[in-house]
Amino acid sequence: MDIQFVDLKKQYASIKPEIDAAMQRVISNTAFILGKEVESFESQFAAYCNSKHCIGVSSGSEALKLALEAMGVGPGDEVISVPNTFVATIDAIHHNRARPVLVEVDKDTYNLDPSKLKKAITPKTKAILPVDLYGQPADYDAINEVAQQHGLFVLEDAAQSHGAEYKGRRTGSLAQAACFSYYPGKNLGAYGDGGSVVTGDAELADKLRLLRNYGQRVKYRHVLVGYNNRLDALQAAILSAKLKHLDDWNKARRLHAKQYAEQLSGVAEVETPAEPSGFQGVYHLYVIRCKSGTRDPLMQFLEKNGVHAGLHYPVPVHLQEAYAHLGYKRGAFPVTEDYAERILSLPMFPELAEQEITYVTDKVIEFYRSN
Ligand SMILES: *Cc1c(COP(=O)(O)O)cnc(C)c1O
Repeated sequence: MDIQFVDLKKQYASIKPEIDAAMQRVISNTAFILGKEVESFESQFAAYCNSKHCIGVSSGSEALKLALEAMGVGPGDEVISVPNTFVATIDAIHHNRARPVLVEVDKDTYNLDPSKLKKAITPKTKAILPVDLYGQPADYDAINEVAQQHGLFVLEDAAQSHGAEYKGRRTGSLAQAACFSYYPGKNLGAYGDGGSVVTGDAELADKLRLLRNYGQRVKYRHVLVGYNNRLDALQAAILSAKLKHLDDWNKARRLHAKQYAEQLSGVAEVETPAEPSGFQGVYHLYVIRCKSGTRDPLMQFLEKNGVHAGLHYPVPVHLQEAYAHLGYKRGAFPVTEDYAERILSLPMFPELAEQEITYVTDKVIEFYRSN
């Protein structure tokens, strides 16, 4: 057996005619920048999120950067986020010349712990940037309540949570704005880089449309200093074709998660993901926690047996060399630091077969029986 961590070839094979037709349509029309394809995807994705506006941009990282800029985040401001995320979340704060202030995560959900939020707020705080890590929404009722009390923006990093639900509402509609990534391996992935900001706020949406396209509403009339951060029409056409399948793919991921949890339930050394009531995650990643000291040998054992697992993320942001200047020391975030040594992401993608999951869990069981 050889089980990839993510296998994008299987997905392409399952929808080849739709993807090929979408690409051919764009190429035949030679309308590569903005225009109908981008607008059409934007309105479909906004509707999918039960929100009003979607602004297609060049990546999830750029979505975060532009959204913070559109919210007015700048020098002297602080933005609250978490230490266990992909570095792009924190980079977006840094690139707006604001200071990232990190808050520990909840030990069950891996997401921002709202009970620790108040202590992190200062007169300089401008926004809160929770991450829906591994496809599970953060606790937005609690976060929004604190934000409202202090007059702060909330921006969702929904790069891993397309289609996830929180108390019956979809990500993208849980805060003032949400940023999505369409990196190929994400739950809704393009065939290259792409991203978007989704918001119900018309003014914010207008500002973002300007920022992504040189600050122009009319060609060569620049009302503000912008960037070239547009979503490609080719990617938009591919995303429109793939969006039709997103719910089915997420359903498959949830079924795989259920199978993993059932088959690993007897392994005392392994904790499987928790899903509090009211949360419906979409398992961008399936992350288990291993008994201290067993993660690395387990990962090697799996690799030797053809199972490719991953680490998300091996080094928390506050311990990265790039963020040494923030001044956080080892020990600042005990939950995050402990988990970084124990987490392991098992193969997860919609096309994974039942027997492949059984093979993975058999190997995990075999490892702990013999160790
Ligand atoms: C993927 C990801 C990003 C960045 O998205 P890109 O499209 O790769 O730029 C940001 N935040 C999180 C949590 C991500 O997983």
